[in-house]
Amino acid sequence: MSQESVNTGKAGRSEVLVDVRNLKQYFPVKVGFAKTIPLKAVDGVSFQIKPGETLGLVGESGCGKTTVGRSLLRLYEPTGGEFYFDGQLVTDKNIPQLRKRMQMVFQDPYSSLDPRMTVEDIIGEPLDVHHLCANRKERRDRVIELMRTVGLNEEHATRYAHEFSGGQRQRIGIARALAVNPDFIVCDEPVSALDVSIQAQVINMFEELQEKLGIAYLFIAHDLLVIHHISRRIAVMYLGKIVEIADADELNSHPIHPYTLSLFSAVPIPDPETARKNKRIILQGDVPSPLHMPGGCPFHTRCPYAQERCKTEVPELKDRGNGHFVSCLLR
Ligand code: SF4
Repeated sequence: MSQESVNTGKAGRSEVLVDVRNLKQYFPVKVGFAKTIPLKAVDGVSFQIKPGETLGLVGESGCGKTTVGRSLLRLYEPTGGEFYFDGQLVTDKNIPQLRKRMQMVFQDPYSSLDPRMTVEDIIGEPLDVHHLCANRKERRDRVIELMRTVGLNEEHATRYAHEFSGGQRQRIGIARALAVNPDFIVCDEPVSALDVSIQAQVINMFEELQEKLGIAYLFIAHDLLVIHHISRRIAVMYLGKIVEIADADELNSHPIHPYTLSLFSAVPIPDPETARKNKRIILQGDVPSPLHMPGGCPFHTRCPYAQERCKTEVPELKDRGNGHFVSCLLR
C-alpha cells in the first residue's frame, strides 16, 4: 500500500511513523481433548500512520480492531507480520524502550484506573517506570502540568479515581498516557463509555493535544460519526481484515465496499428530507465466528451484492485511486 510522503509532526525523522505490514493475531482455542484451532482475530492487516496524523479504525464489536491496537503495543505477542515504528522494526527486545513513545488510552475509564491510587500516583507511575524525574518535587510539578493540560485542577491530585465522573477519569487516563511525552497513542474506544455531551469535550481535547504536541493516533471506535470527525484517514474492518481504507472525506462521500455502505446507511441523518431518501442497508444474519471463517470473500454470507464467485475467490485490497483501497470482487 503506497502513501504520499510528508515530513511533519513531532517525531520528524521518518515520513511514516507507524508502518504495520500483514499483522496477524491468532488465538488458539481448545476444541475437544488436546486439539486447538486458531481464532483469527486479526488476519493480514496493513496500514500506515504519519507523524501527527489520525487513522480511524472502525467496525462492529468483535471485528478485531481492539486486538490490532493491543498487538501493536505488544500486549499480545503477534502471530505474524511486522510493525515498524519510526523506521525501526519493533521486536520483543526493543519494545521496552519504544513503549515510552507509544501509549494507550483504554475504553473503560472505570476499570482502567487503580482505585487504590491517588490521581498523582496514577499519572506519576509512568514517570517512575521510565525514570523521568530527578526528585519528588520535579515529579509533582510534572503531574500538575499534565493535569492542567487535560483540564483537571491541582486540588484533584490527592483524590482517588472513584471520586471522579467518567469524563474526568478519562482525562486522568489521557494525562497518564501523555506523561512520557509519546509520539503515538492507541485510543481504544476512548469515548464510547461516556455520555454524548462529554464525548464531544473529550474528542475536542484529543484534537487540541494533537495540534499542540504533534501526536499520531490510532483511533478505534464503532461510531462512524466520531471516527469521521477526528480522523484524516479511515480503515473499515470486518472479520479481522481491512475491507476499505481511504481519506475520511473521500470515504464519507464515496464509500464503495458493501459493508462500509451498510455502516454509513445506519448513521442517523438530521435532515428528515435527506433521511427519507437514504436507503438503509440491513445486513442479513450474524457476523460469522472467526473460528469458522467463510471461504472466498469473508463478507459473502451477509453481502446483498454477493454472487457465486464471492464464495470461492478472495478479494484483495486494491487501490481505486487517490489512496482509496477496497477489497471487493464486484464493486
Ligand atoms: Fe460482496 Fe462479493 Fe464484494 Fe465480497 S466480493 S463484498 S461478497 S460483492
